[in-house]
Amino acid sequence: VLDTAATVSWIRAIGAVIAEQEQHLTTLDRTIGDGDHGANMRRGFAAVTEKLDGEFADPEEVLKTVATTLISTVGGASGPLYGTAFLKGSMAVKGRAELDGAGVAAFIRGAADGVKARGKAEAGDKTMVDAWLPAAEAAEAAAADGADAQAVLSAAAAAARKGAEETEPIVARKGRASYLGERAIGHRDPGAESTAFILGAAE
Ligand code: ADP
Ligand code: MG
Ligand code: MG
Repeated sequence: VLDTAATVSWIRAIGAVIAEQEQHLTTLDRTIGDGDHGANMRRGFAAVTEKLDGEFADPEEVLKTVATTLISTVGGASGPLYGTAFLKGSMAVKGRAELDGAGVAAFIRGAADGVKARGKAEAGDKTMVDAWLPAAEAAEAAAADGADAQAVLSAAAAAARKGAEETEPIVARKGRASYLGERAIGHRDPGAESTAFILGAAE
């Protein structure tokens, strides 16, 4: 299970992976966007990491702190989207002292539906929704099979990774990459890639 301390550790791990992958995310966004996704995410999760030394009552409070910090520091399209992901995800686990498999699945479903609503994007629009939605489905299926928190997160991470890869051959219908039309074909969506890193950070 993810108790409060384990939730904090997961978020710390996300900060480390995002810092490690900054250049890679920047390269993807330079190709089909404006080249700031790596810096946006690194700045946001650096600010988040600084807040993690505080006291938290439960996983919801940790995840809500991530949300408000990302909203105020990331900017761009991804700031409000990731802010909404962590905010709606935190609301979905309200009242849980720790997250078991079903709790982790509830967080990911809340986040996925939140991003989809906020960005008005559908599956196949070549956005981070293409990583979040399959992750939520995989998480729910794993939780229904009785998987524990760690196994649910792993299943979600694998689905998000596959979803991010599957953004390569398609045209974008949302975000900056949509201005490129067919020139976006063959390139991975940076936000779907960062979502795969976020969900895979605990491994
Ligand atoms: P910006 O595009 O403002 O520079 P970022 O580079 O930080 O912001 O983030 C770009 C990512 O945001 C894209 O790769 C995509 O995954 C995501 N994105 C952009 N617009 C939308 C949207 N309407 N719905 C969902 N995701 C979106
Ligand atoms: Mg950008
Ligand atoms: Mg930008």
